[in-house]
Amino acid sequence: MSHLFHRIFVSNRISPNTYASRQYSLVMIFAALGASTFGFFFFYNALFLHYYTIALIDTIGFSISIASMIFLRRTHRIKLSTFIVTSYFFIFFVAFTYFNKNESFGLIWNIFFCIIAINLNGHKKGLLYTLALYGCVFWMAHKGIGVWQQGLWDKVAFFRYVFSLGLLTFVVYVMELALYTSYTKLQKLAEEDELTQTYNRRKLKEILQREIERSNRYETSLCVALFDIDNFKNINDTYGHNVGDEVLRYLAKIVKNAIRVNDTFGRCGGEEFLLILPNVSLEEAKIACEKIRFIITQTEFETIGSITCSFGLCAYSATSNFDTLISQCDHAMYKAKSAGKNCVNVFVSK
Ligand code: GH3
Ligand code: MG
Ligand code: MG
Repeated sequence: MSHLFHRIFVSNRISPNTYASRQYSLVMIFAALGASTFGFFFFYNALFLHYYTIALIDTIGFSISIASMIFLRRTHRIKLSTFIVTSYFFIFFVAFTYFNKNESFGLIWNIFFCIIAINLNGHKKGLLYTLALYGCVFWMAHKGIGVWQQGLWDKVAFFRYVFSLGLLTFVVYVMELALYTSYTKLQKLAEEDELTQTYNRRKLKEILQREIERSNRYETSLCVALFDIDNFKNINDTYGHNVGDEVLRYLAKIVKNAIRVNDTFGRCGGEEFLLILPNVSLEEAKIACEKIRFIITQTEFETIGSITCSFGLCAYSATSNFDTLISQCDHAMYKAKSAGKNCVNVFVSK
């Protein structure tokens, strides 16, 4: 049973436990729920109640729900699928209210829209969809006061209806907001180095692996540089750990500002940082590293004055992989240290 659930509702192309993987599963689940509900009501409305207009809307709803599931599974276009499913439910609820009026207190079905819209689209966009639906539905329901004669449809019933939907929407909105906040916080914790607020080792590894795949597929160049602060132990020993931490933080800030948008920068650990430079030749990457090295030497750090860094640079080739690439950078950096520090050393294979 759980195997079947995974096969249908979980994507194997999106990393698990992320907001995106949750959105994928939710679109699938709501589309499947839509298909079953529309399927059931098609038979009920067509065969028992003989409401043919509504049965036709049910048929369209059933087909769109199934089509959205297939489309999402094939293309993984979560945003577009979400838009299709939400829009269809929107149109359905408006049309249903228009045709059914309040027959058999059918207005109650509208409670489901905020759950679908806010869960699928997130708290902000979902609320806008919901308010747009309420604009249409409440307007029709207000016009129906004293006109719709099925059951008791008076002003009191109308306000009870509006307030109960409003309250439910508020609850769903707050729940979604809390979920979104905790997902983003968790994601930040998993990806960020707390001290420097740059990518941590884990995220750098993920990004580098993706860049390696991209470089293999499109045959583009990729360079990686590892750099380490020179004589950092002295700084800690002379001025204390807090000053050392402040140096790491400020260094990260200036390097972040010095790189291009396509480049990635993060802290590997200790006083060692990694630069991922896609789509540049080894010569261009060397110029970039020299530029960063120079900026660092020219920066005035509070309390300690200036620092220097040693760089190990390496170009990716199809014969290397993540581990060999890092160890080649490490090797080059080690050479930069032995060559007197404060320089960029390029890895050359023997
Ligand atoms: P080299 O020029 O050869 O790199 O010498 P070094 O003194 O920089 O290198 P070493 O590996 O001997 O020392 C690195 C120091 O970095 C030791 C460690 O206490 C310090 N360090 C590592 N992580 C942190 C941190 O988060 N904060 C602070 N303040 N220091 C750290
Ligand atoms: Mg060092
Ligand atoms: Mg070190």
